[in-house]
Amino acid sequence: MPAKTAPEKKVAAPSTNKAAKPPKASAKYNPTSPERVREILQRLTEMYPKAKCALNHSNAWELLVATILSAQCTDVRVNMVTPILFKKYPTIQDFAALKPEQLEPDIRSTGFFRNKSKSLVGAAQKIVSEFAGKVPDEMDKLLTVPGAARKTANVVLGSWFGKADGVVVDTHVYRISRRLELTKADDARNIEQDLMKVIPRDQWIDFSHRVIWHGRALCIARKPKCVDCKLENICHAADKTWSTVEVHKNAKP
Ligand code: SF4
Repeated sequence: MPAKTAPEKKVAAPSTNKAAKPPKASAKYNPTSPERVREILQRLTEMYPKAKCALNHSNAWELLVATILSAQCTDVRVNMVTPILFKKYPTIQDFAALKPEQLEPDIRSTGFFRNKSKSLVGAAQKIVSEFAGKVPDEMDKLLTVPGAARKTANVVLGSWFGKADGVVVDTHVYRISRRLELTKADDARNIEQDLMKVIPRDQWIDFSHRVIWHGRALCIARKPKCVDCKLENICHAADKTWSTVEVHKNAKP
């Protein structure tokens, strides 16, 4: 594991950040003040105006399958596997008729394929037998489906049904919310609760998409590209690789 790069202090901003407004001086710094949150959301929108779910799908079932497969796997890999999978098993009834072992070879490359096969077949059987073959659009019901914990349920509800019942907290949202001091929690459930308190509900879906894109493009886990980040002068993350502002030692993944 490479050593984290110590942030430099108080150096001139690069040309890429010239357009960003300087942070307002404030008597008492509040990382979750509505003004700061609004600024973060605005800059994320400028950086990723078209961010959306990166998992290819054409219906709710396909999105549920892709999201279950994406655990511990890249979206790129999932998008390579799902077209072949859905060609072989076009309907949820096709999945429900399988034994998990039959599915394993088709999803092996996504990792954890035995558990994922059980989840996918179990999910199909549950949805066929209890929800008339339709993926439910309510959080309580979705959470009864095998393989669908809160993150998966939030992805399906937000990206397919357009329902903001919660905030998707994946590895990127986890890391970046903590770096940006939007939460001090260190588990996904409490991070989600904190985000639901500070982010306006009509922004929950887009916020997750944009933060996920940010986590892939710039705010990467090991060495964030802070010099190119529009959030730089309002971000005090302890593991920044470049900084024009004070860093806060507890603001870290
Ligand atoms: S300044 Fe660096 S640590 Fe902060 S959000 Fe941007 S890339 Fe991430």
